[in-house]
Amino acid sequence: MRAAFVKQVARECGFALAGIARAVPAAEAAYFHDWVDAGFAGAMGYLTDHRAGVRDDPRHLLPSARSVLCVAKLYNTPPAASADTIPAGHGWVSRYAWGEDYHEVIRRDLEQVVERLRAASPEPFEARICVDTAPLLERAYAQAAGLGWIAKNTCLINEDIGSWVFLGEVLLSLDLDSDVPPPDRCGTCTRCIDACPTQAIVPTGRVPEWALDARRCISYFTIELRGNIPDEHRGGMGNHIFGCDVCQDVCPWNRRAPVTADAAFAPTHFAPPLEELGVLPPEEFRARFRHSPVTRARYRGFLRNVAIAMGNSGEARFREPLERLASSDDPVVARHAHWALGRILEEQTA
Ligand code: SF4
Ligand code: SF4
Repeated sequence: MRAAFVKQVARECGFALAGIARAVPAAEAAYFHDWVDAGFAGAMGYLTDHRAGVRDDPRHLLPSARSVLCVAKLYNTPPAASADTIPAGHGWVSRYAWGEDYHEVIRRDLEQVVERLRAASPEPFEARICVDTAPLLERAYAQAAGLGWIAKNTCLINEDIGSWVFLGEVLLSLDLDSDVPPPDRCGTCTRCIDACPTQAIVPTGRVPEWALDARRCISYFTIELRGNIPDEHRGGMGNHIFGCDVCQDVCPWNRRAPVTADAAFAPTHFAPPLEELGVLPPEEFRARFRHSPVTRARYRGFLRNVAIAMGNSGEARFREPLERLASSDDPVVARHAHWALGRILEEQTA
């Protein structure tokens, strides 16, 4: 089977970009281990445990793999808003979580790709679909497959469509011609580094020059971190209640980013009012976010984030819901609500 045909099928199945990388250890594998060893992964056990070694070679996931089909799907939808432009008292949900859970959408579309390849292939072949959760250095393979470059903000950026894309891969036992990585086009730009509210993009003193220290990143705090968010970073979190898009919002390569017409990514959870979220009982949280990536924060983490955003608003109207959260049986929620009440008091007495 020819690589061009495989990529064409992927595009016909709804992927904006498709490319082929060889199923061999990625050049970035050593850097990944250094990053983990430096502690930058924080408490994300799935990056630091035995799965860290699995990431070294895609053949740990599919021994017969010869090629990696890498795809990218657009998720950018209107409105062209950012955390700075939403009304006061609303919470910022990262753009990627406005619609349905992308894992399900990407997997469904990749299954269709594999089905069509099987129907067209004269020979049987093995395939394994990977979507984010598989231990694979997906940005490294996407870069090797020519989809874009790994930028200073650590996102994969494509010169034509920017970085509002989900990545997915299919490991294939087929031997396909591979693509070549594009040049790094960050140049001397430092917009993402300068704009990061918590200074999470840190210098490394080596190549690559910048690394993301998850222990300072709002996305990590609001999505991945269970328990206490360090005091010193709560103020910098502003109105973010799930994820953070600042380093992508300011990137010049996203200025003309195309939008998707895929109904799955329609903005269902765009900037919800904090007032509503602060009183959500657990069952309503589950029902409201059932098919959304927001469930990853879990109920207690989500209320914790909402409490911080209420505190950062400085608005007196949030005192009452925060007092209720401060009397929660959950110590994490109660602790962050107390902090938020103190923040509002400071603001009111300033
Ligand atoms: S996601 Fe937000 S906090 Fe994290 S590096 Fe980007 S701008 Fe900084
Ligand atoms: S903002 Fe500038 S430095 Fe950051 S990722 Fe975009 S182009 Fe690269």
